[in-house]
Amino acid sequence: MVTVLTHYIDGTRTEGASRRFGDVFDPCTGQVTSRVPLATPAEVGESVANAEKGHAEWSAMNPQRRGRILLKFVGLVNEHLDELAELLSSEHGKTFADAKGDIQRGLEVVEFSAGAAPHLLKGEFSDNVGTGIDVHSLRKSLGVVAGISPFNFPAMIPLWQAGPALAAGNAFILKPSERNPSVPLRLAELLTEAGLPNGVFNVINGDKEAVDALLEDARVKAVGFVGSTPIAQSIYATAAAQGKRAQCFGGAKNHMVILPDADLDMAADALIGAAYGSAGERCMAISVAVPVGEKTADALVAKLTERINKLTVGHSLDKNSDFGPVIAASAKERIESYISAGKDSGATLVVDGRGPNVEGYEGGFWVGPTLFDHVAPDMSIYTEEIFGPVLSVVRAGDYDEALRLCNEHEFGNGVAIFTRDGDAARDFSSRVEVGMVGINVPLPVPIAYYTFGGWKASAFGDLNQHGPDAFRFYTKTKTVTSRWPSGIRGGASFVMPAGS
Ligand code: NAD
Repeated sequence: MVTVLTHYIDGTRTEGASRRFGDVFDPCTGQVTSRVPLATPAEVGESVANAEKGHAEWSAMNPQRRGRILLKFVGLVNEHLDELAELLSSEHGKTFADAKGDIQRGLEVVEFSAGAAPHLLKGEFSDNVGTGIDVHSLRKSLGVVAGISPFNFPAMIPLWQAGPALAAGNAFILKPSERNPSVPLRLAELLTEAGLPNGVFNVINGDKEAVDALLEDARVKAVGFVGSTPIAQSIYATAAAQGKRAQCFGGAKNHMVILPDADLDMAADALIGAAYGSAGERCMAISVAVPVGEKTADALVAKLTERINKLTVGHSLDKNSDFGPVIAASAKERIESYISAGKDSGATLVVDGRGPNVEGYEGGFWVGPTLFDHVAPDMSIYTEEIFGPVLSVVRAGDYDEALRLCNEHEFGNGVAIFTRDGDAARDFSSRVEVGMVGINVPLPVPIAYYTFGGWKASAFGDLNQHGPDAFRFYTKTKTVTSRWPSGIRGGASFVMPAGS
């Protein structure tokens, strides 16, 4: 049965009024499971007006009390973890265990934000900057802020955006991916159950029309975006032109450099998880392996091939599946066309993942693990983000060439180096032009109290997600200079007034 989804406004599920809908699929079957309403600008306007009311109440509450509500929400999400993970898997296609990780990494940022807010919202104070003059600063919430999130982390990214924004006293409007909106709607319900005042967290479902309405609305003071680079760049430009703050995170092409002294079994195991986990649909996935030296490359490709042949692509709720389907039929077609292009351009297709047979689920959006060797830097499989289970091996002659490849690539989200040599690792982490670096760690996603963000075409804006940066992004500073030229000290009466 196909269900009809809603928005979430003023603490309740709200039917869409636009009569425009998007189809939500179960990627394992290829069947439409629900229809998501695509909001009109008028509906977006209503949710903003509602959020403004919510902000008045929420920002007046002290940060410890806000934090307690957020921590109660964390408890509720944990109580409903299995239900949420299953729902997430059913619309995304990632495995149940991976879906739990998606939620867990989001909750870590909410926990951090709840605890850190009173500290990170503290201002500064200087005594006697001039005779009798003091200066202090305050961090005030912005008001109504919006988050626009991608399909690949339906829980984690909305929570990365909303956690610090709410803890700092803002009201938040989430425009989740129209491909998997059910988990965000459920999270909104749990926030209300935890005691969040109505209107403080609204979910508005939609497509470009809803996003444009949010960007054009002067009452929306900041926009956090995560998605593909062309949209990130265009949202950054539009938001800036409207005088809004924006932090916009885009695509990636993450490299892993493997030096000849690395533990190759460890590197191969790490690569398998980082390249094919979640069907390669992670912005921190490794899609390029750069072994240094022919001997390293030959041995690595042999070890990867052996491991790939043991991988199982299957239903996301089947415990034996290493990874599930990709998000959509169009994604499957796009990934397959990259595989054809790679082959046509002369790369060696070591393992071809096109057309895997997943018995009983023939209609699903399946792409198996794919491995290319002898990939050259001018091939489209190297220059462009494929966002699927496709790993390209680019052989480097020496360390400098490997470093240059990482630095010259358009994207700079994540990178990793595998080596036993501390000096090489240190030089690499210092000189590589990438925002997040792993040393013998394939997916260096920073923990909640550090910040997350790439460089170059992977991010637009100057402040990262979560950690202290998020509190700077979601607050504005007010600086107060004060002097009290005459008080009651001189003229005050210290004698008990007595009747005449
Ligand atoms: P996407 O850019 O297609 O969509 C992201 C969001 O933007 C969605 O909510 C979508 O509805 C909206 N959107 C789409 N087209 C729009 C338009 N023309 N105008 C306004 N809004 C529009 O991205 P996706 O396919 O959902 O997600 C995958 C991409 O996200 C990959 O490129 C991946 O690397 C990237 N990503 C980056 C990070 C990061 O932190 N850098 C994290 C996760 C995903």
